[in-house]
Amino acid sequence: MTRLTGILLWWLLLAGPAGAAAKLQVLASFLPMYAHAKSVAGELAEVRMFIDQEADPHDYEFKPSDVKKLAAADLFIANGAGVEEWLDDLLKKTGGGKLTVVDASAGIALLDNAREFFTGSAAAEEEEEHEHEHGDKNPHVWLDPVLAQRQVENILAALTVADAKNAAAYKQNADAYLAKLRQLDADYRAATGRLANKNLVTFHDAFPYLAKRYGFNYLGCIARFPEQDPKPAELKALIQAVKQHQVRVIFAENGYSPKLLTTVARQTGAAVGTLDTLEIGAPAADAYLVRMRKNLAALEKAWQP
Ligand SMILES: [Zn+2]
Repeated sequence: MTRLTGILLWWLLLAGPAGAAAKLQVLASFLPMYAHAKSVAGELAEVRMFIDQEADPHDYEFKPSDVKKLAAADLFIANGAGVEEWLDDLLKKTGGGKLTVVDASAGIALLDNAREFFTGSAAAEEEEEHEHEHGDKNPHVWLDPVLAQRQVENILAALTVADAKNAAAYKQNADAYLAKLRQLDADYRAATGRLANKNLVTFHDAFPYLAKRYGFNYLGCIARFPEQDPKPAELKALIQAVKQHQVRVIFAENGYSPKLLTTVARQTGAAVGTLDTLEIGAPAADAYLVRMRKNLAALEKAWQP
């Protein structure tokens, strides 16, 4: 090795990290947004999941270090639809800067939150207050494989604007990923289409978009938001509905201890299954596809004649 080659190599080694720093810095709000953004961006941008992998995106409590994280980012990919209610306060602390917030749900028609287990005027009034607190639209659009495609298209558009030099590569990645999402949709359609008696009871109100898409009979949930117990009248109505529709399996979810749910199961004779809301867990580009397929397998198993 000549002295000159040696110097050149050193120069290349030093230039490497500087080149990497020039990549677009993307923060994805929580797991599905990470999976979509990472699948479109590949190695062309630096994609990180914003919230801790065990944190609940519905009521995330930000840390002082999050202000720094946001200040260093170019794009923040939010699910939108009311999940990231903590984001506005956080952005005020960050003071704007160069950050662009992307609403991945732009253009998606939102469903109302469930009301069916709220009975009596007192409960209805409390419900009004609750809705004021959390918004009256259901935010779980990511759990519908068709709406997920719309989210991916929104993310692609944002990456293309923010980093035009890589537009063609982003488009190519997005096309490949969208094909997998279309296959996921086709598999949901085929597998659940041949089943009868698709009664869905879940822990929190996370699956109305999935239910609507594939014609499931969504009877309701135990708690509209994690760690928020239903009132006795609601619980009673739910138990009646489970008995009346002969629901064989009710679904707990990953990451939450379903004590109330097992109570309902015990009182109705239903078994307990698990569905994944994809709200928590380790970031991976294929996490959405892998975990949505696990959900499909769980539904098929529960509804098998
Ligand atoms: Zn949720």
